[in-house]
Amino acid sequence: DRKKKDSAVLVIGLGRFGAATAGQLDRLDREVLAVDANLELVQKWSERVTHTVQADVTKIEALQQIGAQEFSTAVVAVGSSIEASVLITANLVDLGVPDIWAKAISKSHGQILQRIGATHVIYPEAEAGERVAHLLSGQMLDFVELDTDFAIVKMYPPLAIQNKTLSEAALRRDYKITVVGAKKPGGSFVYCTAETYIEARDQIIVSGHPDDIEKFAALDK
Ligand code: ADP
Repeated sequence: DRKKKDSAVLVIGLGRFGAATAGQLDRLDREVLAVDANLELVQKWSERVTHTVQADVTKIEALQQIGAQEFSTAVVAVGSSIEASVLITANLVDLGVPDIWAKAISKSHGQILQRIGATHVIYPEAEAGERVAHLLSGQMLDFVELDTDFAIVKMYPPLAIQNKTLSEAALRRDYKITVVGAKKPGGSFVYCTAETYIEARDQIIVSGHPDDIEKFAALDK
């Protein structure tokens, strides 16, 4: 029925990226149709995701045969073959699939995907690499860039804000960042207020512009 198809996701390619996407969608109780040309991969994943089918879908007829036109969301998880990734994405656009997430292995691959109508382009390797660089570069324990001008980071507090309250630390004025949460050793994260007292072994959650957070995280270096 219509409702089911609206929430079902078509995942094309069961390599590492596609398999991780399909597996997590399944754990989130989303109906998934996963497609791969490789029969062994299809068999391997057939127990974990709702529907699997073996097909080479570079031809639009093959996509029609598996009912791709009925899906409102598709993930093109084919990276190593740029030609296949581009053909599949273009065919999904032609079939009227409104929401197309496509994995790119390079900047130019991503630009082509965007140009032919992919609604979201993902660069898994580049994004993971940038994240690792952030984690290695300072005191950051975790880093999520939500937009080019906004990030959220988990870190240990620099000396400048230790043994004082957040209002005394004046972080918004001096560093243009906000501490949203803090956790004592062995405790759990709580929302911060102006009265929250920060100590060296606490972990803090900081939000703000990535450049400002980077400067803040590098204070003690
Ligand atoms: P990862 O880097 O995430 O492991 P790959 O690009 O190596 O991803 O894997 C892509 C998967 O997509 C492979 O399992 C391959 O069999 C599948 N694939 C590639 N081209 C097609 C196609 N035309 N139709 C269906 N599946 C395809």
